[in-house]
Amino acid sequence: MINSTVFDKELRDLQNRHLLRNIVSRSSSQGIVITIKGKKYLNFSSNDYLGLASHPEILKEACRALEKYALGSGASRLLAGGSDLHLKLEKQVADFKGTESALLFNSGYSANTGIIPAIASEGDVIFTDELNHASIIDGCRLSHARKVVFKHRDVSHLRRLLAVEKAPRKIIITDTVFSMDGDIAPINEIYAICSSANSGKRRPSVLLYLDDAHGTGVLGKGRGALAHFGLKPGPWIIQMGTFSKALGSYGAFAAGSRDVISWLTNTARSFIFSTALPASVIAASSESIRIIKKNRSLINRLWSNRNYLAEGLKSAGYDTMRSETPIIPLLRASAKEALRLSAYLFRKSIYVPAIRPPAVKEPRLRITVSSAHTKEQMDILIKTLKRYCKERG
Ligand SMILES: *Cc1c(COP(=O)(O)O)cnc(C)c1O
Repeated sequence: MINSTVFDKELRDLQNRHLLRNIVSRSSSQGIVITIKGKKYLNFSSNDYLGLASHPEILKEACRALEKYALGSGASRLLAGGSDLHLKLEKQVADFKGTESALLFNSGYSANTGIIPAIASEGDVIFTDELNHASIIDGCRLSHARKVVFKHRDVSHLRRLLAVEKAPRKIIITDTVFSMDGDIAPINEIYAICSSANSGKRRPSVLLYLDDAHGTGVLGKGRGALAHFGLKPGPWIIQMGTFSKALGSYGAFAAGSRDVISWLTNTARSFIFSTALPASVIAASSESIRIIKKNRSLINRLWSNRNYLAEGLKSAGYDTMRSETPIIPLLRASAKEALRLSAYLFRKSIYVPAIRPPAVKEPRLRITVSSAHTKEQMDILIKTLKRYCKERG
C-alpha cells in the first residue's frame, strides 16, 4: 500500500484533538443487542425508537415488494422510476400528517438540501435555530437566501429578528426534536407568530418549515410535532419527516398543501436528479405507518422506557441537559472525557457513542432508548454508569 500524504497533517491534527472518528461495523442486524467483532453489545445508539427495523410484518412486506418490483428503481420518479407503491405511500403520509399532499425524498439529508433551496432563494430570509441539523444548514447554504440564526428555542429573539426584516418572504426553520439534545422546539409559539403574520393575507409571507425527523413516530401518537401540540397544518407549513428513524426504514417526505408539493415536485433538485428509492424500502415504510396507527402500545412503551431511563440517569448523578424525549445526552467536560466514558461502557459491552465537535459544541454521550429495551437492560446501563462515577470519582 502506498502511504497517502495528502491529508496526513490534517488527520494527525484531528487525532491530537481527540476528534478523529472511526466507523464501528456490526456483523448482526441493527437492534437492541448487536454484534461487533464477534462480541455482543447492548445497543443504546440507534434511532430505531420502536424496534420497527426488525419487525417481522414490515420485513415480509419488503420481501414481497422485492419479489414483485425487483431491486433497483432504475431512474428518478419523473423519468418513470417510481412505482404505484410510491404513490400509495405519499397518500398515506398526507393522511397521517393531515395535509393535502406529500412527496417522497431519498433521505432526510436529501430532503433538506432539496426542499430548502426550492422554497427559499436570493432575496428571501431564512430564520434558523442555532442547533438545527447539519442537513438544514447545508440546505440553507444551497438556497442563496440570507440566513439569520436565532438562539436555541428562543422565541423572543426570533420575534425581534423577524421584526427588523423587510424581505417579501421569510422562512422559519426548526428541528422539532433536536437530534443531539433531545429537547422539543416551542412550535406552538412559533406557529402563533406565523399565523398572525399571515392572517388576512391571500399569499402567506412567513413560511414554517419543520424537520420532524425525530418527532415522526415518537410525538403526537406518531403523527409528529404538530399533532403533539394539537396544531393543524396550515398552507404555510411544510413538514419534513423521515422513515429512517422511528419508522425503522429509509427515506424521507415533505407534507404540505397541494401547491407546495407540486412546486417541490418541479423544483427540488434532490428529487428531480436522483434515482427513486427501491419499492421494497417504500413497502416497508408503508407497513411501518400502518403498524404505528394500529398499535398504540409501541409508542406508549417507548415513553415509559424513556421516563424510566432518564430518571435513572439523573439519580445516578448525570447531567442529561435539556432532554425531554428518547434522545438522552450525558454532558461531559471535554471530548477526551466523552471518549473515555464511551470506551468504558464499550469494555462493559454497552454501546453508546461519544458526540464531539463539530457535531456539537458541548461534548457528550448520546443515549437513545427504544420501546424494545427491557427494564433489565436499562438497569444494566444505569448501574454501569453509577460504577463509573464511583471508580473515577
Ligand atoms: C437524521 C436527521 C436528518 C437526516 O435524515 P436521514 O434520513 O438520516 O438522511 C435530518 N434532520 C434531522 C433533524 C435528523 O436528525
